[in-house]
Amino acid sequence: MTARTHDVAALTFLMFAVIVTPPAGMTVATAFAALLANQLGGIAPDIDQPTAPFWRNLPVGRYLGRVFGALIGGHRFLSHSLLGVGLFAVAVWVLLEFLQPIMPRVDIGFVWWAFVIGMVSHLVMDSFTKEGVPFLLPIPYKFGFPPVRSWRLTTGKAIEMYVVLPLLIIVAVWLASTHYGVLAQLIENKLVD
Ligand SMILES: [Zn+2]
Repeated sequence: MTARTHDVAALTFLMFAVIVTPPAGMTVATAFAALLANQLGGIAPDIDQPTAPFWRNLPVGRYLGRVFGALIGGHRFLSHSLLGVGLFAVAVWVLLEFLQPIMPRVDIGFVWWAFVIGMVSHLVMDSFTKEGVPFLLPIPYKFGFPPVRSWRLTTGKAIEMYVVLPLLIIVAVWLASTHYGVLAQLIENKLVD
């Protein structure tokens, strides 16, 4: 899937999580940090792809991307598995704890959760593509849905752009309108500065 689809998917999954388990309260700083972490989590697994936007935006990124990709096993390898999600989750938690003193109003627990949701959404979306996802690494089997490979999507092709992406946006809008009260209450009563 392309980075744009992953961005929208990460946000849609986060919205769903917030609706299912609305936070008791949240600072504005936490909300912004969580949105950022969610988007980063949504593209983090593609760190193993040298052409990923993650690398394209860094100076000498393409080169670094290749080196890093080779180190963690190439595209759709470690960072596209549950083990990879676990490793990223630990690394991000350590980073957030390190950053906590300079961002005292940020609830790092929620920010961490938003990152993990973004990452999980990436694996779920990639499992709809032909390549599949090696969820259970080190067991090298790549899972996909539907199980018949030829029924799955090709990344960047018309179905992703004109069906999957609009569908994700429709789900996000539908979630927002059917659970308007929960989201409005979060913004009006529980979001503090
Ligand atoms: Zn991917």
